[in-house]
Amino acid sequence: MNPHDREQSFKEYSKILEGLKSSFFERWKARKDQTASLDHFERLRTLGTGAFGRVMLVRQKKTTTFFAMKILEKAKIVRMKQVEHTLNEKTILQCLKFPFVIFMKYSFKDNSYLYMILPFVRGGEMFSHLRRVGKFNEFQVRFYAAQVALALEYLHYCNLIYRDLKPENILIDANGYLKITDFGFCKMIDGRTWTLCGTPEYLAPEIILSKGYGKAVDWWSFGVLIFEMSAGYPPFYSHEPIRIYEKIVSGKFKYAVHFGEDLKDILKNILQVDLTRRYGNLKNGVMDIKRHPFFQTIDWIQIYNQALEPSYKPECSDAGDTKHFDRYDEEPLEIASTDRFAKEFENF
Ligand code: AMP
Repeated sequence: MNPHDREQSFKEYSKILEGLKSSFFERWKARKDQTASLDHFERLRTLGTGAFGRVMLVRQKKTTTFFAMKILEKAKIVRMKQVEHTLNEKTILQCLKFPFVIFMKYSFKDNSYLYMILPFVRGGEMFSHLRRVGKFNEFQVRFYAAQVALALEYLHYCNLIYRDLKPENILIDANGYLKITDFGFCKMIDGRTWTLCGTPEYLAPEIILSKGYGKAVDWWSFGVLIFEMSAGYPPFYSHEPIRIYEKIVSGKFKYAVHFGEDLKDILKNILQVDLTRRYGNLKNGVMDIKRHPFFQTIDWIQIYNQALEPSYKPECSDAGDTKHFDRYDEEPLEIASTDRFAKEFENF
C-alpha cells in the first residue's frame, strides 16, 4: 500500500471506530438483559476453568446452537472480593461488539451461580497452539498482533482498560481469527486506577510499583505478548514471582537471536518502563504502533473485515468440536435452596 492510500485507510478506519464507539455507548445507556435459564441449555463438557468456576460447552435446546457457558460461583467471588469485577465483566460483555472481542448473548443467575452465555470459539486458546508449535513465525505474529492492537484500540476508545492480556485469554476461532475473552478485570475508567490485578509475567512496571495506572498497562502487556508469540517464552521470567517483578521494573530483557530489526524496534518502544516514552501512550496514541515498520505490510481495514486468508486455521470438524480444548474433571452443579448473596449480585 502506498503512503497516500495508507493514510486514507487510517482515516476510513477512524470513522469506523467512531461508529463502533457510539453504538457501544448506546448499548451502555440502554443496558438490557437478555435472559435465559439453565434448563434452556444442555451441558456437554468443561472447556476451561477459572478462579471462580468453569466454562462449559452447552447446546441451546431450542436452536441446537453451541455456546460457551461461563459459570461463576457466588460464594467464591465474595470470598475473593471480586464482586465489583464480576459486575463490571457482565455489563461490559453485554455492550461489546467488535470482531476480535467476545460478547455475551445471555446472562442469568440462581441461588449459587452466575451464568454468562458466550459464542463458542472453537479453535481453543492461543496458549495451547503456541506451546504446541513452540513459537509463531513473524507473519503469524504480525497477523495476531494486528488484531490485538485493533481490539485494544477499540476497548480504550470505549474508555475500557482490559488488564489481563495473555495467550490464555486469546481464543482462535475456526476461521483463524482471534477473540479476546475473560473480561473479569476489564473496567471502565476515566483517568487512573489502582487495583493490583493481572498475571505476573504480563504486569506493567507501574502496577508493580503500586502507582496509579491507566490504559498504557495494556500496551505494555501487548509488548509482552508480541515477545512471547515470537520467542515462545515471555521477556521477563523466573520461577519466583518476586524475581519476575524485579526484572519487569528494571525493564531489561534479551531479544531472541532470530528477532528481526523491526520486531526488536517495536518491542523496545512498547516495553518502555518510562511512560513518557512507551508507544501507545504518546500523543499519537495507537498510531505510533500502527505506523511502525513492523506493521508496514498490514492493511488494517482488511484485518478488521477478516478479509485476509490466515496462514493457520485450527481444524474443526463440526460446530461442537472440542478437540482443541484440554480435558477437565466434570463436577455437578450444586444449587443451594437459599440465596446467601442475593444483595451482592442484585445487579447481575
Ligand atoms: P475465563 O474464565 O473466561 O478465562 O475462561 C476460562 C477458559 O475457558 C478459557 O481460557 C478458555 O479455554 C475457555 N473459554 C472461555 N470462553 C470461551 C469461549 N467463548 N469459547 C470457548 N472457550 C472458552
